[in-house]
Amino acid sequence: MLPQKYKALSDEVAVEKIAVAKKKLGDKIMILGHHYQRDEVLQFADRVGDSLYLSKEAAKSSAEYIIFCGVYFMAETADMVTSNAQKVILPDITAGCPMADMAPIGEVKKAWSDLEVLGMANDFVPVTYINSSADVKAFCGRCGGYVCTSANAKMVLEKLINDGKRIFFFPDRYLSTNTGRTIGIDATLWERARDNGGLGEEEIASAKILAWNGYCPVHAKFSTQDIDDLRERYPEIKIIVHPEVPEQVAKKADLMGSTSFIVQQIEDASAGSVWGIGTEVHLVNRLVKKNPDKKIFIIGKLSCVCSTMNRISPQNLLWVLESLTDGRIENQVSVSENVKVDALKALDRMYELS
Ligand code: SF4
Repeated sequence: MLPQKYKALSDEVAVEKIAVAKKKLGDKIMILGHHYQRDEVLQFADRVGDSLYLSKEAAKSSAEYIIFCGVYFMAETADMVTSNAQKVILPDITAGCPMADMAPIGEVKKAWSDLEVLGMANDFVPVTYINSSADVKAFCGRCGGYVCTSANAKMVLEKLINDGKRIFFFPDRYLSTNTGRTIGIDATLWERARDNGGLGEEEIASAKILAWNGYCPVHAKFSTQDIDDLRERYPEIKIIVHPEVPEQVAKKADLMGSTSFIVQQIEDASAGSVWGIGTEVHLVNRLVKKNPDKKIFIIGKLSCVCSTMNRISPQNLLWVLESLTDGRIENQVSVSENVKVDALKALDRMYELS
C-alpha cells in the first residue's frame, strides 16, 4: 500500500523527487516505460516501447533493479528473462491487465481437459498472446505451445497453420480473429460453457483456430461508426488500428499493427497527411505532439484510457525508488522457478520461429 506521505504529494513535487532518487540510484536501476504510460511517468523511462521490446531490453540490462512502468504480466515477463540476481519492481502491484485476467489458468486448463475428453487435445497447439499471465505461458510451454506478440502473431499463426497445425489461441479473441483473417482463416470462438449450448464437437473438430473469449476493454471501445464519422469529415484520412480492436473495426481500417508499427507508420508519414488511430489515448496524444506537421485523431469519442496502466503514478514510482535508496524493495514481481522454466519454453519457441 502506498504510504500516506506519498499519496499527499502533488505530481509536480513527486516528479522533482523522482529525478533526485533516480540520480542517486544511478545504474543500479533501469526504468522501462510502456507506450501507454502517462507522460509524467514516461519522462523517467530509460527505454520506451511495447511489451516485447521492453522485455528484450530487460534481458539485456545488467541493472540490479528493473522498474517496470507497465502492467503485471509485463513485469512477470521481465522477471523471467532476467537473472535471479536482478529484481523486477512494479510501482503499483495492482496494475493488472483485464484481458490477461480473462484467461485464468484454471479455466484454461478446464478447456484443455474438455478437448482431452473429446480426444482432440493433440490436434491443437496452444498459443498465448504475450498479454497473459506467466501461468498461462507456462501451460503453453508444457503443452508444446507458443507465445506471440501483436507484432508477430501473423508470422506465428501462419507458420503453424502451414505446418498443418490447429491453434487454440489465448486470451484475445480479436487478435486471433483479426490475424486469422489476414491469413484467410475464420477463427471459431471458444465458448466456455460448452456443456450449456456452446461449441459442438463438430465445430471444434473443424476449427483451425479456436479463439478464447477474452478482449481488451480499451480497444473494444472503438466502433465502425467512429471510423465512418472521421472518413466523412476527412475523406483523405488513413485509419490505422491495433489488432486488439473488434473485427468490424479492423475490417474498416487501412492498416493494422502493433503499437511499434503504429508509431513507425506515423513517423514515416508525409507532412500534411491525415490519420485516425485506434489505440490507447496516451500513445495517440504523444504522437499528436511529436508530429505537428500531420493531422492525427484518435478514432472515437470515448476516452480510450487503459486505467490499469494509469495506476503507475509519479507518487508510486517515487515510493519504490526512495525505498530502494533506503535499502528496501517494494512491489517486487517474482515468478516461481518451475513456472519460469515452462513459460520460457513457449517464449523460446516464438523466438525460434522468428
Ligand atoms: S491496453 Fe488493454 S491489453 Fe493493454 S494492458 Fe490495458 S487492458 Fe491490457
